[in-house]
Amino acid sequence: MGEKAVSIAKLDVKKLIDMLNGALAEEWLAYYQYWIGARVMEGPMRSEVEPELLLHATQELTHAELVVSRIIQLGGTPVLSPAKWFDLASCSYGEPNDPYIEEILKQNLEGERCAIQRYEEIADFTNNKDYVTYQMAITILNDELEHEHDIEDFLKDLNRMKEEFKKLRL
Ligand code: FE
Ligand code: FE
Ligand code: MG
Repeated sequence: MGEKAVSIAKLDVKKLIDMLNGALAEEWLAYYQYWIGARVMEGPMRSEVEPELLLHATQELTHAELVVSRIIQLGGTPVLSPAKWFDLASCSYGEPNDPYIEEILKQNLEGERCAIQRYEEIADFTNNKDYVTYQMAITILNDELEHEHDIEDFLKDLNRMKEEFKKLRL
C-alpha cells in the first residue's frame, strides 16, 4: 500500500483484505460453476442459455481481476492456491451433478444471490471510508444484479413453458 494510501485508510485494512480474498475465491468458483455448467447442461433453451452462461463466466473472471488488483494495492496477498478457495468462500459451490438446465440455472442463481450479499457487505464496510474499494464493489454489484435478473428470466420462461405443456395435456 502506498504511503498516501495508508494515510487515507479509515478502516481495518486487514479485515477488508480478508473480505476481498473471500470474494476472490468466490469469483473463481462462480467462474468454474458457470463454465462447466454451460458445457454439461441439457434441456430446452440450451442454445440460448449456454452463450449467456459463458458470458457470465467471463464476467466473473473480470471481477476476479478487479478484486485481485485491489488486494495487491492494499498491500495484501491474494489467495495463492485453489486448494484454499473452499475455505475462504462463503458461497457454496453447486456441483452440476444433474445436468438439467433448470437445476444448473438454480445453482447459478444461488451463487449470484450470495455474490450480491458479498458485495453489499464490502460496499457497507467501505462506504465513506475507502472510496476506491467502494466504487469497485458497486461496479461488481451491478453486474451481479444483472446476472441474477438474467437467470430469473430464464427460469421464468422455463416455468411458463411447463405451464403451457400442462394445459396441452388436459
Ligand atoms: Fe462476480
Ligand atoms: Fe455473477
Ligand atoms: Mg447477462
